[in-house]
Amino acid sequence: MTDENEIPISLQIERTSVNITTFSALNEETGMPTNIPVILGGDDIITDEVAKLEVEEAFGQLNIQSLFGLSSESLESCLYDTFHISDNSEKLTPHVYLLKSHTNSVYLLNLLTTPYADLNLNSYFNEVEFMSRSFSGVFRRTNAQIEKKIIDDDKQDKILKDTVDNLSGYIHYMIFQERGLRELVDSQARKAAMMVLGMFLEVSVVSDEYVCLGECGKTFEFDNVQFENKEGEQTICPECKGRLSLAPPILKADNIQFTFPENAGKILGENDPSEALPTKFLGYFTQVAMPRNIALTVNRLSPEHFATLATIPMKASFVNDLDTDDFISLNTNWRRTEDGKLFMFISIGYTKFYEQNHLPFIPQLTAITVNRKITEGVERGKSLDTILRSSIINDWVLTKKMKIKDIDKFNSIDDLPKFGVDEA
Ligand SMILES: [Zn+2]
Repeated sequence: MTDENEIPISLQIERTSVNITTFSALNEETGMPTNIPVILGGDDIITDEVAKLEVEEAFGQLNIQSLFGLSSESLESCLYDTFHISDNSEKLTPHVYLLKSHTNSVYLLNLLTTPYADLNLNSYFNEVEFMSRSFSGVFRRTNAQIEKKIIDDDKQDKILKDTVDNLSGYIHYMIFQERGLRELVDSQARKAAMMVLGMFLEVSVVSDEYVCLGECGKTFEFDNVQFENKEGEQTICPECKGRLSLAPPILKADNIQFTFPENAGKILGENDPSEALPTKFLGYFTQVAMPRNIALTVNRLSPEHFATLATIPMKASFVNDLDTDDFISLNTNWRRTEDGKLFMFISIGYTKFYEQNHLPFIPQLTAITVNRKITEGVERGKSLDTILRSSIINDWVLTKKMKIKDIDKFNSIDDLPKFGVDEA
């Protein structure tokens, strides 16, 4: 017996989800990347076939490799929460998943916007990693075949394209038909992270740009001098006369406070002092901000859905050392405040301190509770100091609220001015 309601609902979810996969294979001789993008799903969101082709083409031209950065710590996966800055309750507020995996000369970027909130990031990342490994295998094999003149470039292109279609079709099937990759199917839990530090951020949501959906694709600030009619809402691109859309909002952190155990900087920076830099921790937040070029490209698919959508990193994981399976985790709780800003509490966890009970850090599970209590306390108007003093981390240091740019001056979190302590 088939459930008559079930099928339409899962289909409906698939139709409101957009799954974008881009494989980028670097030709080691020429240094040139070949990008192969695929967009699946989204039939109810992407009403314009031309826009879909243009976005595929745009992903084909993105410098995927540059999104991986040069740092030894690279983002594996991030789940974003979203809201529309202009409160429009009819609009979907999807969850956004961004995953990256790199195998040899192959870079893979997967971006999924979906109503599903329960995909398990570990399981999802394992699949994406499998996809990049599989593709890398095919890329190497066909390169060898070209060298031996068994196949030509066109044949390789065809094989790579088919591989991409199969792999991205498979993950799409896993998510929407199989309903795999969910929270409850986390079979292989990795090491647990220990929370080493928390950051309180006051964040502004900046929306002051238009973006051209036409040929030039440029962004223009609202008060750009090129606009003919400065007063009204702008609809026409001053450069190419294409259609203008609002550009998706950007999150900008204004102020920051930290909390961490006494002397945490000394412990964290023991082998490498740069590990204790305040900017290092803020970096985990700035690194997971939705890349601007991706937000602008996705917006072209459906400005209706994406132009006013703010994306907040909720859960992320970074690999910090390729030789171990250690990773760094980020967990966020957030609220909108009355002045239209966001309050975020972000906890940073390291698996390398797992089961090192002599250290003053707290397990991730405890951290999740602390994190939630802090955000709830702030919502009820309590001060951070009061909330912390009645929490399990009541002996942790709370620093003074500082402007983001002022934390550059400090070489260690231990040196930051403490809340409630007057400077001499
Ligand atoms: Zn234009």
